[in-house]
Amino acid sequence: MLESLLCNEQDSLLCVLRLIDNNGLGTAFVVDDLSRLCGVITDGDLRRLVMDQCPLTDPVGKHLQKEYVYGRVGESYEQLISRTTDMIRIYPLLDPGGRVVDFFEYQSRVHIPVTKPDLLLGNELKYLTDALLSTWISSSGQYITRFESEFSRYCDAEFGVAMANGTLALQLALASLNIGPGDEVIVPDLTFAATINTVLHAGAIPVIVDIEEESWCMSPEQFSSAITDRTRAVIPVHIFGQPCDMDPIMEIARQNNLYVIEDAAQAHGAKYKGQKVGSIGDIGCFSFFGNKVITTGEGGMCITNDSNLDDRLRLFRDHGMSKSKRYWHEVIGFNARITNLQAAIGCAQLERIEVIHERRRKLEADYRCLFEPYDYLKFQRNDLVGREKITWLVCMLVTNGRRDEFVEKFQAEHVDLRPFFFPLSSQDLYAKYTFSNEVSQRIASQGVNVPTLPSLEVELLAKQLENMGV
Ligand SMILES: *Cc1c(COP(=O)(O)O)cnc(C)c1O
Repeated sequence: MLESLLCNEQDSLLCVLRLIDNNGLGTAFVVDDLSRLCGVITDGDLRRLVMDQCPLTDPVGKHLQKEYVYGRVGESYEQLISRTTDMIRIYPLLDPGGRVVDFFEYQSRVHIPVTKPDLLLGNELKYLTDALLSTWISSSGQYITRFESEFSRYCDAEFGVAMANGTLALQLALASLNIGPGDEVIVPDLTFAATINTVLHAGAIPVIVDIEEESWCMSPEQFSSAITDRTRAVIPVHIFGQPCDMDPIMEIARQNNLYVIEDAAQAHGAKYKGQKVGSIGDIGCFSFFGNKVITTGEGGMCITNDSNLDDRLRLFRDHGMSKSKRYWHEVIGFNARITNLQAAIGCAQLERIEVIHERRRKLEADYRCLFEPYDYLKFQRNDLVGREKITWLVCMLVTNGRRDEFVEKFQAEHVDLRPFFFPLSSQDLYAKYTFSNEVSQRIASQGVNVPTLPSLEVELLAKQLENMGV
């Protein structure tokens, strides 16, 4: 590449014109016989010389501008980039002897978002069009029943009730289990706010408990300690694709007569001791929001193995209206229905879920290699016994106490790194419900989600990071 930019001071203007025409970079570096830089000439300079009727047989050395830009090898990226302008995007780099040994080229950096749905490789458009053309665009239609049965089968559960979003899935799970005012529901400190908001909307009292050091999921010990006479349910969250330690959680719940609602919004397909998450507790809740592993735009689902709960969820989903008597309402219901259009996309996404998982898994492995040299970066555990996590967003901890600086550096390079959720206990709205939060405070202050696009080539990111000095 450097070769295509170099010409000798004795070369004719015509010769340099050809060189620039071939390299397509609009510029040439002029050197003497010892490769020392004499000047830089651009296609604009040549154009002006031609217009001044300067003979094209003249040696280029005769027509060099006094002022030109160059840099030195070993300078920092900041120094190098500071010399670029709209006009000067490429310039030579010299060794201590003044010889041209390299060049710097400004490349406008691509924006890398934290995630992006993967929608164009399968049957998404085909099924969506089919649903549209069928005119079944509202909340009845074959794609809904198909999505429910296929997704629940994928999760090893008997029943699936599709919803308008994952938050409604949690809300209807609570409603169908009759959880309301006076009841306490235990939730982990590290989660997305929907987990606790739905408890509050149900009129129940959330109790926030700490997480495990290694899995970042709800601590079974803390769960056990937080139980009171009023506790009715627990919502373990399989955070960032990592399964909770379900055996002790289920055992404690059964001993205390508590319902278990799994929040699996971030963990489609993750397994605990060989069993898919969501199918272990009484009800499992999923989200198909745009940034989740598979998406329907907005969407959600409750899965269960209990046919009574399946009936209750369907009742609550559709205004609480009796199945046998139209406009007769048995409970105070919701409208939580999903559309056939969304479900059509969901069916197509589900067909490709293993491919999507595999690409995310590969990306996570690439990240682990890329960041291997940085011993202050600690990735999410993927080796916990009995837990098969999936890759939702690739996560790591920045353990040198400078997480925010780290994030800012990437943001400045248009790489969308995200700090973890603020722990619930740290937010004014929820702090008063805190039972314990020691580990979660620390983990959340160190954690970042890094861009996890199924199509991201980690080489692209590596290139972008090359000169950042993270
Ligand atoms: C995304 C998410 C939800 C809510 O799902 P929506 O479909 O956005 O309503 C609930 N819990 C967790 C842990 C989530 O990540």
